[in-house]
Amino acid sequence: MNIFYYDVAVDIPVRRCFTYKSISKIKKGTRVTVPFGRKTLIGIVIKVSSISTSIVKTSAIKEIISVDDQYICFKKPLFNTLLWASEYYHHPIGEVFLSFLPSILRKQTNKSIINIDESSNYKINSTDKNFDLTSEQEIALKKLKKIEEFNPTLIYGVTGSGKTEIYLRLVEKLVQEKKSVLILVPEINLVPQMLDRFKKRFDGEIGAYHSKLTPNQRLKIWLKSRLGGLKIVIGTRSAVMMPLKNIGAIIIDEEHDQSYKQSEGFKFSGRDLAIKRAQLENIPIYLGSATPSLQTLKLVKEKKFKQVNLLNRIDGKKPPKLIPLDISNSPLIGGIAMQTMGIIQSTIAKGEQALIFINRRGFAPLYECDACGWVAKCNSCESNLVFHKSKNRLICHKCESIYGVNDECPDCYSKEINLQGYGTERVEEVLENAFKKIPIIRFDYDSTRLKGAIESIYEKVHSNDAAILVGTQMLSKGHDFPKVTLCVILNADSGLISPEINALEKISQQLIQVSGRAGRNNNLAKVIIQTRYPDDINLKQIKTGNYQKFADQCLQNNKNLDLPPYSHVCILRTSSPKSKGSIDLLQKVSLFLAKKKGISLIGPLPSIPSMIKGNVRHHLIIKASSRSYLNRVLKSLIKDLENWPEIKKTKWSFDIDPYDMS
Ligand code: ADP
Ligand code: ZN
Ligand code: ZN
Repeated sequence: MNIFYYDVAVDIPVRRCFTYKSISKIKKGTRVTVPFGRKTLIGIVIKVSSISTSIVKTSAIKEIISVDDQYICFKKPLFNTLLWASEYYHHPIGEVFLSFLPSILRKQTNKSIINIDESSNYKINSTDKNFDLTSEQEIALKKLKKIEEFNPTLIYGVTGSGKTEIYLRLVEKLVQEKKSVLILVPEINLVPQMLDRFKKRFDGEIGAYHSKLTPNQRLKIWLKSRLGGLKIVIGTRSAVMMPLKNIGAIIIDEEHDQSYKQSEGFKFSGRDLAIKRAQLENIPIYLGSATPSLQTLKLVKEKKFKQVNLLNRIDGKKPPKLIPLDISNSPLIGGIAMQTMGIIQSTIAKGEQALIFINRRGFAPLYECDACGWVAKCNSCESNLVFHKSKNRLICHKCESIYGVNDECPDCYSKEINLQGYGTERVEEVLENAFKKIPIIRFDYDSTRLKGAIESIYEKVHSNDAAILVGTQMLSKGHDFPKVTLCVILNADSGLISPEINALEKISQQLIQVSGRAGRNNNLAKVIIQTRYPDDINLKQIKTGNYQKFADQCLQNNKNLDLPPYSHVCILRTSSPKSKGSIDLLQKVSLFLAKKKGISLIGPLPSIPSMIKGNVRHHLIIKASSRSYLNRVLKSLIKDLENWPEIKKTKWSFDIDPYDMS
């Protein structure tokens, strides 16, 4: 009897597989149950061989308990994408593979096969297409339709230029060819709107895959996709590995958006993973944006990506003007200058809507004693508590711990507690007091959390005329609010004067995205930027609205300074209950890396915040000019580091291509 040996990746944080045996022939990418210590675990078969390559004695190798599905979970292109991801991100292989399975399949072996109607067909609803494409759209679509294989293409289109319509037409073609398609959006809040557009165009089931689904819903959509019963799926980054049968293309909307990056656990970029997948599937991938990332623009310059342009709005209108408003000498009420109040007033008097943009949620970011200067802080994070008036609670925005409110200072018993600064709730309150009869609609993490909340916010915005929306950067993304003719950015300065290396890319994208929300139906729309630096040279550039030109300058600048995307960065993050633990490990790493040529280091530095959930945090920035070289160095570092005694008490993780450098 033949015995086969299998390397299996299980859901634990180690950077290797474990060997098992079986008399059955099992294919790579299949889900199996294996014994592990006294437990059993679910794993994925990574390697098959007829002789054991394990260091464990052949007789001691344990047997696979069961093969869990009649299908392969990760077929070849997906399998290879994930293998690549675990190498590229230097993340434990089991966690990489299993994080893309619906949670039920990560835990259970029972085969909950559902009935799949294999004959899923889509009918194109022609009443949804009662217009002709503009000539710009025609040209773009013609070029895009010609692409049959992997050939990443940027669709650079200003807001309202008809990008989504292009996506719809591309999907029509795929559907006619009986192929499936994956459409990614950066944030869960953008799913309903995209879903709505697709439902209007196609009769047939369209899948939505994101974190707010129940485990059963996720399982169902995943299985339906895997077995061919679902051919159009719209989702967030967690959908990037949807096992769609016969996939024909991937569309990434708002490709520049930082929300594609997962910042906890397995830190991957959904966009980059999608590009790798498209390459291994050898299918087209379309990246849409009004403010493309520097990384994508660089690849276009190097002719590795193609670009098509949609430079005009469908309605023929110019994008609204960006107007810096000097607030250095004006008093602010909840962050709003008097002059701004006047502009809001005249906007709503015309029955139009205004959008107020503030990068902080809650009521006040500082709960402070006037007498002794005590500030409310989280017990387990080095982070100030934010006062949330609607809940009458203090909340830590790092760990979401909730604290009661005491009206007395715990240090000096003074009753003079002061609320410093402002967030969305306070701005909302100020506006409610100033404009009594006008609906004020808040759009932030807190107000959109519950199921159906987004839909009811949309309903409220669309059914009212005069209204004011107050929101965080969530509000600046991709939403379609036709009655908005005024946008106000309350605090742009924190972005303009930030020392972070990608701060300018971020703030220019934000300002231009926000301006895209205004004036979809109105020529006189404007965007007010409250600032103390109205003459800032970058602000002047951004103000012209010519993003591509500004981005070109940023690229040139980064090239001169050898910054990403012209160099490659990795951050090693450590955390430990004792400060010494987390810093000592990084110092040892610094010594190790100092011997390597062509690597530059910044740090170790304390992270911001310096403590989360009782653990002190530090990080080390590691930079190299070649990606493959950086990868090799990190690999040799990990090999060494895994044997160091220091890692027993200190957690460490890599953040490859980090977005947040603090
Ligand atoms: P974007 O995704 O670039 O913001 P959309 O595709 O949402 O742009 O288009 C903006 C609006 O214009 C939508 O309401 C869309 O239905 C409409 N639209 C798109 N293309 C055309 C066209 N060729 N003629 C008329 N209306 C169009
Ligand atoms: Zn006090
Ligand atoms: Zn906390």
